[in-house]
Amino acid sequence: MSFAKSCKNELARLEIKKHCCERSELAAFVHMNGSLTLTDDVTLQLSTENPAIARRIYSLFKDKFHKDMQILMRKGIRLQKTNSYALKLTGKDKVIHILSSLGITEGGFQITKGINKDMIKTRCCKRAYLRGAFLAKGSVVNPDSSYHLEITADYEEYLDDLVNVMEKFEIQPGKITRKKEYVVYLKDSEQICEFINVIGAHKTLLDYENVRVMKGMRNKINRLVNCETANLQKTVVASLRHINNIKTIDEKLGLSNLPSNLQEIAFKRVEYPEANLKELGELLEPPVGKSGVNHRLRKIEKLAERLDQKQPH
Ligand SMILES: [Zn+2]
Repeated sequence: MSFAKSCKNELARLEIKKHCCERSELAAFVHMNGSLTLTDDVTLQLSTENPAIARRIYSLFKDKFHKDMQILMRKGIRLQKTNSYALKLTGKDKVIHILSSLGITEGGFQITKGINKDMIKTRCCKRAYLRGAFLAKGSVVNPDSSYHLEITADYEEYLDDLVNVMEKFEIQPGKITRKKEYVVYLKDSEQICEFINVIGAHKTLLDYENVRVMKGMRNKINRLVNCETANLQKTVVASLRHINNIKTIDEKLGLSNLPSNLQEIAFKRVEYPEANLKELGELLEPPVGKSGVNHRLRKIEKLAERLDQKQPH
């Protein structure tokens, strides 16, 4: 499952505690995702490929409006394996009522380009609004490959309002125009974490943080391995051997698969390459004596050697 999908699945199952926030989340989703057909009778249609989101929006509608909604499931045309879910609500009066209650129109069918202030009055609703917007038009790249999160909008006014809401949480996104879409994006991993936190995807946040830590670790390992080894003290030479072992384990097994005591020493070793074994032991929680540290590093070395033999270069 893609990272974006698991993030959205988590959000779609998040409990909303207040009625005001239900309205804000729904308003954002409908504003960004909804389309109107005006032939015969008026139909408001929402569509998503994610069944959890379809259920979420359906139940928000039920809670807020008690209106009959029809859910259709249809096969995607281009992506044959993907189902797409359409939520439809037909009836001119119903649709007019819903759109104006959600601040998307001011009566009639004239769509408001920006975000209605009533939907983002309080901090809780601002979070809910951002969550709805992300569910409708957001995506986040797997942090293993790169740091990128974005939300696209149809109107520039809307995008500017979205940026304003994000700035209330100390998130400073960038803006670009792509074809006819307006895109707000984050490239900084800490800002992405902050955004994921603000919209309430806490499990996703932990996963993101983990990948980020592992990646930071990997970069540091590579820097240390590549650094000039001439003229280094004995401690550092040993340290580099340890770090090389850790690199091998990370590449062939993944550091996250190490038992926690070995993972801890591996992290400290990379973080403090100049520390001797005694100093390294004092950095552990609880502290471990020199021989304990040596024992763990030997285990790491043995494991690295075994992994090297298993999969020769
Ligand atoms: Zn609220």
